[in-house]
Amino acid sequence: MPIQVLQPRVVSKISAGEVVERPASVVKELIENAIDANASEIRIEIRQGGRRLIRVSDNGCGIPQAEVALAFARHATSKISSEEDLSHVTTLGFRGEALASVAAVAQVSMISHASGEESGTLLRVEGGEIVHSEKHGGRTGTVITVENLFYNTPARLKFLRSEATESTRIVELASAYALAYPELSFYLTDHGRLVLQTSGSGKLHDVLITVFGLETAEQMLEAQTLEHQPAADRAPSAAVPGQGIVVTGFVGSPSLHRATRNYQMFFVNRRWIQDRSLSFAAEEAYRTLLPVGRHPVTVLSIHMPTTDVDVNVHPTKREVRFREPREVFSAVQRVVRRTVIGQAPVAQASSQPIPLVSEEWARHQTVSLPLGASRVQIALEAQRTADMAPPGVVSAPMLERLPMLRVLGQVRQTYIIAEGPDGLYLIDQHAAHERILFEQLQSEQKAMSVSSQALLEPLTLELSPQQRGLIDPMLPQLTSFGFDLTSFGGDTYLIRAIPSALSPEHVRSVITELLDLSREGTEATVPYEALDIIACHSAVRAGQILTLEESRELIQQLEKTTSPYTCPHGRPTMIHLSSTQLEKSFGRR
Ligand code: ADP
Ligand code: MG
Repeated sequence: MPIQVLQPRVVSKISAGEVVERPASVVKELIENAIDANASEIRIEIRQGGRRLIRVSDNGCGIPQAEVALAFARHATSKISSEEDLSHVTTLGFRGEALASVAAVAQVSMISHASGEESGTLLRVEGGEIVHSEKHGGRTGTVITVENLFYNTPARLKFLRSEATESTRIVELASAYALAYPELSFYLTDHGRLVLQTSGSGKLHDVLITVFGLETAEQMLEAQTLEHQPAADRAPSAAVPGQGIVVTGFVGSPSLHRATRNYQMFFVNRRWIQDRSLSFAAEEAYRTLLPVGRHPVTVLSIHMPTTDVDVNVHPTKREVRFREPREVFSAVQRVVRRTVIGQAPVAQASSQPIPLVSEEWARHQTVSLPLGASRVQIALEAQRTADMAPPGVVSAPMLERLPMLRVLGQVRQTYIIAEGPDGLYLIDQHAAHERILFEQLQSEQKAMSVSSQALLEPLTLELSPQQRGLIDPMLPQLTSFGFDLTSFGGDTYLIRAIPSALSPEHVRSVITELLDLSREGTEATVPYEALDIIACHSAVRAGQILTLEESRELIQQLEKTTSPYTCPHGRPTMIHLSSTQLEKSFGRR
């Protein structure tokens, strides 16, 4: 084919794809427009995961009659006018693309009434063409209704996930904006059912309670903002890059941690963004305070001069580019660290099991032993540094089965110390028990006979708006794990039975993690990780005193497992000091 410039209709569908990936992208653009219009109240209504219908109503400034049609033209915006403006964007929108993009791939109608005008306008747009326009009454503000999304782009439609998943994305998105704008009132319904409502009180902690639930919100600490930059003094000073960065918000105390990074939210100048390095900076601040493989909960707002951050990187504006990324990361890290160290009950967190050695170690079963120090001391040191130095590395062959062990006692209420045919073994009681329970659950589930215990008093479970959408599709799987859950109306569920190994006090955390997993995981990984979540929460913890009898029982069960040397995460369950190592270090060889 010869080269030709594409028809505007084709171009608009191509560009629409950049902005409108899924129903949640539409909701995002419409919420942002409402915020930019200075609304104090934003109502969102969705049906069928947003595919059938998305309606966003606001009480913002509205669009003047003369401009309504123009709002749907590509690159038409009231928010910037010159190239210069691009370097200090203060609104969420500025590209003038959203309405045009949405209208290209859905049936859209808009009622808008500008403040100061006598009447408003009703406009209908289909496949990018204005098909109807008339005068319309109503209060000041804008109502946009988007129906049958992707009706004319079947390829897109195929990429949508289930209705429940798309709804959850929308709830998450609305929750994120509610967190970024606590002074605005958000109201979201799904098929007429209220799923999210914030008061607009301006208090972030109120929104945390709504979004994460009271139990989680109570474990969040208010960020300790830099002392010499009081809140009143937050005027952006463009003079020195990196100066004038203020980090506010809440972070979880170290006792609050999750299996995924879904609970980490970052806002830059009140824009919800995704940036792995910010996550990394926050997680660094928790170093040694959280169990390995667990992630903190963060809701952090970074306020900085608009000239120091480029928001024009991606059509969806979810990514930004910092002029001085290092300054931003270290500001986040400092604030989080100070908050966590300053207010957190650290002892609680450090009683969590920390694996003795690195995963690398688990794979090779090698022990590094600088000569001359106490072996047990070295092993415990290794736990702290997770760094096995190269000198004197002794490799043991990968053993499949555990030899018979004689239990000698317990060290630090965490490790069982035992003697075997070839030397000494230190066994992490939690990791070992997790392995045992995991394999038991796995074989029970294969045989479809997971043992379950009925609770005398049913437990009630309050779900957050996000969780609500995920639980129904998960019920069959929960049943197969030994749970008996029934809806008790609204967001409340009753739990009548739980897996036998699990203690009732851990049920809520287990369900939270299982729901996180069902959102994140793939079909292949979910069953494995789900069983591990149950095993991990059911296992004996570090800090628990075991009698000799209990320790023996644990070791006997560990001997029966197929992979006794690692926990299901792949971390070691034990370290082994061979007779040769012992002899060498005592100078007997
Ligand atoms: P952008 O937000 O990047 O300017 P949009 O396509 O989202 O582009 O919107 C185009 C224009 O329509 C906006 O610049 C604004 O003037 C107007 N507009 C859109 N939604 C609203 C709303 N809810 N209230 C008031 N004006 C709106
Ligand atoms: Mg916009």
